[in-house]
Parts: sequence; structure tokens; C-alpha cells
Amino acid sequence: MLFDERPKESKEDLYDREGEMEELKRAIDRPLVVLRGIRRIGKTSVLKVSLKGLDHPCVIMDARGLKTNYGRRELYSMFARALSSSGDKLRGLISSVRGIKVLGYEVELSWTGKNYLSLVDLFDNLNRRKVVIAIDEAQNLRGPLSKEVLDAMAHAYDYDRNLTFILTGSEVGFLYDFMGVEDSESPLYGRSFHEVVLDRFNESQSREFLLSGFRQAGLSVKASLIDEAVRELDGIPGWLTFFGNSCLDGRCDVMEIKRRAVNVAIKELGNLLKGRTARYKHVLKAIAQGRRSWSSVKDYMEEKERSTISSSVFHNLIRNLEMMSIVKDYEFLDPIYEEASKTLRG
Ligand code: ADP
Ligand code: MG
Repeated sequence: MLFDERPKESKEDLYDREGEMEELKRAIDRPLVVLRGIRRIGKTSVLKVSLKGLDHPCVIMDARGLKTNYGRRELYSMFARALSSSGDKLRGLISSVRGIKVLGYEVELSWTGKNYLSLVDLFDNLNRRKVVIAIDEAQNLRGPLSKEVLDAMAHAYDYDRNLTFILTGSEVGFLYDFMGVEDSESPLYGRSFHEVVLDRFNESQSREFLLSGFRQAGLSVKASLIDEAVRELDGIPGWLTFFGNSCLDGRCDVMEIKRRAVNVAIKELGNLLKGRTARYKHVLKAIAQGRRSWSSVKDYMEEKERSTISSSVFHNLIRNLEMMSIVKDYEFLDPIYEEASKTLRG
């Protein structure tokens, strides 16, 4: 169903994205691929549907759950979960490897002691056949173990010719920071990768997506409502899906649905900014109020804090918000996040 709110897994449920899926599949012979785009643009959906159409076994990891200071237990659990759901062939391939136990559908990995499995060993063993290793929201791998993960990936890049890594990321700045694309000390530095970018739907795609979804559900919705939703939701498939789904529930009021979407975004912003200084909220609020330049945002903050702010501190605040793909050039990338930012207090 087009309006199912979970990431799509089958081609019939995914609207369009033919070109991007083709591109992703063509890149499967490359060692490293990045699939990027803002939150809710459809990365997980495009990843899952594309990989389902391949003949090769795939290991799909979800790094979203990793905490900032994740340890080896969390890292190995993520790999173990992905290997557990990767299919019989792959479990068969690794069942006799030291440090790996396959118990029916479950895979156990051990990271210490005599039966220690390193990530390099794991990758070298997977390399015995063509395997795609995808890591969803890979920027979350930043942390104390990032060097270990990157070293293993760099080793696989050079020696494991059957492996392809696909990294997806909503926070593209932090994803590239993790990969160390600009850091000559990083293990992956200088290695090329293919990039697939998911953009928002244009107006006609957004309209067509909503119309197809309503047609599929046998619901007729006034054209003016669809126009309003297309205008307000700025082609972001996740919000369009949220709108379609709410209409199916019988509450087809664009402004009401938008308010609920904003509430979701407020919670997400809270999580993204957790542990960070309240100054981020001030920056977001200033931009949400229409301040569009370095000096006007900085003026707002100084008034708010009744204190001057050094240029380098201010630069870092803006840079981090850009790394998180919340704003770019003093514009929000998602109008719902912009609305959410207007409500911030700090
Ligand atoms: P991301 O991983 O980029 O955050 P998801 O794949 O989770 O995005 O998609 C966000 C929401 O939008 C989900 O509800 C998903 O079902 C829906 N969605 C995204 N792209 C499409 C598409 N092309 N067709 C149908 N639904 C989509
Ligand atoms: Mg996702």
C-alpha cells in the first residue's frame, strides 16, 4: 500500500524512484556507495526495495539505535541481528567461522576470548561470495569505535572484491565526517565512492503520489485538499504518506495533520539536540523567524543571551546544524522542521 507508514519493502508499494533504484543497482559492483537525502525522503525504502531485487545475499544493518558512545556489545549486536535476518545461504556461509555461532535463525558473534571475531575476519569470510553490506543511517557509527569500523571497511575496500558497502545517511555532513572523506588521517580517505542522491518529489510527482494512493484505497479526496497538502508538505514523501494515511483514518484536514506532523518533528528535534547547548534552539528559532544571514542570526542570539558570541562559537553552531541536515544557507530543508523550530523554547 502506497500510504503504509513503514519503510517500503516491495516495488509495488514504492512510488517511482525507478531511476535511483537503477543507479543503486548499477553501483553494486563498486566497493562503496552512499545513498543520501534528508529524513523521510525514502532512503530506507529505496534501499530495501532495490536490494530485494538483487540475486546476491544482503546484510542490512540499522545504525539508528546506536547511542553516541556505543560499545563493542552494541556494535556486534547490530551485526548479529543483521546476519540473523540475512537468509539461509549467508548463515550457511559463516556457520563454521571462528567466533560465529549459528543457532537456527539466530547468529551469535563473540568479540573477546579465544573465539574472538574481528570485523576484518567477518568481512573476509563474507567475501567468499558476492555480498552487499548496507548500513542504514551510518553517521551513527561515529564514536569511540569508528576507527575500528573504518579500518575494517578500508581493508575490505582493498582486499574483499566481492563485497559492496552501501551507507545511507540523513545527516550527510556527519556521514562524511564519519567516513573521513576530507580527513587525511582517516582509513577511508582518498577512496572513491559512488553517491546516489534522493531528492524530494516535485509538485506533479507529489500530486500523482497522493492521487495514486487514494485511488488504491478507493477514497476520493477533494482536489483543493490535495493541492493544499502538496503546497504545505514540500514533496517530502514521508510527510505525504503521513497525510495520506491520516486521510484514510477519516481525518483529512491538512492543517490538523500538519500540526501533528510538527509535533512529531518537535520530538525529533529534541532528540537531535539532546545534550547540546540551548544555543542551537536559539539559532533554529532565529532562522525559523526568517533571519537569513550570519549577522542577523547572530544579532538575534546576542539579544537573546544578552551577551556577545564569538564568531568561532557561532560558526560551529551553524556548521553542526548543517551537518545534521536541518538547515542549509540559513534555510530549513524541511518546512515541518521549520514550524517545529518556531515552538522551541530555550
Ligand atoms: P528515510 O529512510 O529517508 O527516512 P523512509 O524510507 O523511512 O525514509 O520513508 C519515509 C516514509 O515515506 C515511509 O512512510 C515510507 O513508506 C514513505 N515513502 C518514502 N518514499 C516513498 C515512495 N517513493 N513511495 C511510497 N512511499 C514512500
Ligand atoms: Mg530510514
